[in-house]
Amino acid sequence: MSPVRMIAIDGPAAAGKSTLAQRLADELGILYFDTGVMYRAVTLAALWHEVPIDDEEAVTEIARCLPIDVRPPTVQDDRKYDVLMGGEDVTWAIRSPEVDAHVSQVSMYMGVRQAMTQRQREIGLRGDVVMVGRDIGTVVLPEADLKIYLDASTEERAQRRYLESQEMGEEESLEEILDSLRMRDELDSTRDLAPLRAAPDAIVLDTTSLNADQVFERVIALAQA
Ligand code: C5P
Repeated sequence: MSPVRMIAIDGPAAAGKSTLAQRLADELGILYFDTGVMYRAVTLAALWHEVPIDDEEAVTEIARCLPIDVRPPTVQDDRKYDVLMGGEDVTWAIRSPEVDAHVSQVSMYMGVRQAMTQRQREIGLRGDVVMVGRDIGTVVLPEADLKIYLDASTEERAQRRYLESQEMGEEESLEEILDSLRMRDELDSTRDLAPLRAAPDAIVLDTTSLNADQVFERVIALAQA
């Protein structure tokens, strides 16, 4: 049993949150839960159903009804988990540039956030969880035992995302990735509801000049302290 029961990790896109959270969860033997998956699934469903993204009511209805499930991986293709939407495997579909381009608008809607936050809180309050997102330490699990806010320069984050996308054989350019990250960060941090920001009691780590091992070593020491 780990000394902490709830770890919240927030920060902008591609700051290394998922890599860190996965390793912490493995090391501590607790659940890793990436809340961005839920906003991405709602966005994908809206796109697939050709619901206009600016139709708040229709997108909110999707968020309320969509059966989203995250389970241990069943396919060996570098995935950390399976994401199922109504039973369909959408693990990679939710990572498309089209979803990237629209997810921040979807996640601004009050009804969408209410539906997602409620489900996330239910899971988080069971404990033994590393939960990742933008508002975990501030809104979803303000009672978390340890709150980390991971940051890095936009250029460094874009470079990391670019290398990942190259490894996956994708064709997005560094410039496109940089633009997409900038747009999402701007929308996520300036929205009225649950904006991206560090909780007052979060430990802020700038990872611009740290590698994944160094980040992990620092945070695991905090988790075990
Ligand atoms: O973490 P990820 O980049 O997959 O998140 C995708 C988007 O979902 C974010 O850019 C943000 O708009 C939204 N999100 C959110 N609150 C969270 C997690 C993600 O608003 N807790």
